[in-house]
Amino acid sequence: MTIYPVNAFAAPKGTYDLTPPDSATFLAVREALAAPLRRAGYGYIETPGFEHVELFSRGVGESTDIVSKEMYTLTTKGGTELALRPEGTASVLRAALERNLHKAGNLPVKLWYSGSYYRYERPQAGRYRHFSQIGAEAIGAEDPALDAELIILAVDAYRSLGLREFRILLNSLGDKECRPAYRAALQDFLRALDLDDETRRRIEINPLRVLDDKREAVQKQLTGAPLLRDHLCEACKEYHERVRVLLTAAGIEFEDDERLVRGLDYYTRTTFEFVHDGLGSQSAVGGGGRYDGLSEMIGGPALPSVGWALGVDRTVLALRAEGVELALPAATEVYAVPLGEEARGVLFGLVTALRRAGVGTDFAFGGKGLKNAMKSANRSGARFALLAGERDLADGVVQVKDLESGEQKSVALDAVVDELSAQRS
Ligand code: AMP
Repeated sequence: MTIYPVNAFAAPKGTYDLTPPDSATFLAVREALAAPLRRAGYGYIETPGFEHVELFSRGVGESTDIVSKEMYTLTTKGGTELALRPEGTASVLRAALERNLHKAGNLPVKLWYSGSYYRYERPQAGRYRHFSQIGAEAIGAEDPALDAELIILAVDAYRSLGLREFRILLNSLGDKECRPAYRAALQDFLRALDLDDETRRRIEINPLRVLDDKREAVQKQLTGAPLLRDHLCEACKEYHERVRVLLTAAGIEFEDDERLVRGLDYYTRTTFEFVHDGLGSQSAVGGGGRYDGLSEMIGGPALPSVGWALGVDRTVLALRAEGVELALPAATEVYAVPLGEEARGVLFGLVTALRRAGVGTDFAFGGKGLKNAMKSANRSGARFALLAGERDLADGVVQVKDLESGEQKSVALDAVVDELSAQRS
């Protein structure tokens, strides 16, 4: 048993720390992915990082990789079985039911969330054991416009970041009317193939997942497999066509992908995935779909719903793959460099006043010499350095140096805050 990592400072396998300056990009991506949701009436929800194991085994599905292999579970001292959340939808729906949000007024209840998720997967580029998602759920309405809305909002989010090389894969998984017959037809087809024992077991529990098998030897045998498209009932067909028409009208291009199944059992009808071609094998930057039966699966009333989750980590990687640099404003706009003890006190006061006026300001802490302090000022990304020595203080001024042009001028102490606030607007 490893008691302590070999390198005492190493983060656990499959995780990484977000540190400046990269963390600023990460935050900006989170903001950008959430912004279209806020504009579309989605309210923010936060749920615990762990839930009862049962929520996921009933909701996400006992036969899925996520539940059967990838969940971090723990038993509390009191004997309660908990799991670190592997995904957001089941938790959000549970919380909505607990708080009776679906009874409070208008349906659908539209919610968005942002947080960390945990899956015990084999780590590789773009696949982590701790990752970050922005998600959206629209609970309690069956309306193709809602499915279309969510897809459009995700596209708008990606576009606002400057991403271009992403594609939308779209499918319908049918509903409780038409899926059982399709499932049986697929099982008949699959049982006749040459497959290993584990895959054979999967045919009996969740045959649709076999279509998702990435192995070439399996994929080869799947040509000719019955497609759900040919088994959809009239209501599902009509619903799906409506979603397609609405997306097309919104100028959204998508690809029909009859093999798109997704790794969670709760999906019905519309399912979609956003893939980015610059990411190698972990190409899904986001995905989602309709889950009309999930509420009942976890013990609630019938609440047809639809939602998605976008991976923040992979969106950052996709931006990098496309060479997109986000224009992030410098956090520090002014950097104060005191020359001598008296100036230290005066400038420290000015720093506080500038911050209170909304100007991002930092200070040369630690009694650095002028040269070092100016280096720090340059590194901070600040546009202006604020310098003051004994003589300046005697004259009641400070020096404001424009670090881009090198120009420097004296500004009266009591005018500095106004002057620098004005400079930024
Ligand atoms: P899923 O719930 O599996 O559909 O995941 C939704 C999105 O979360 C995916 O499209 C990925 O962008 C992201 N994601 C899922 N699992 C991981 C992981 N292990 N590491 C990084 N991102 C992930």
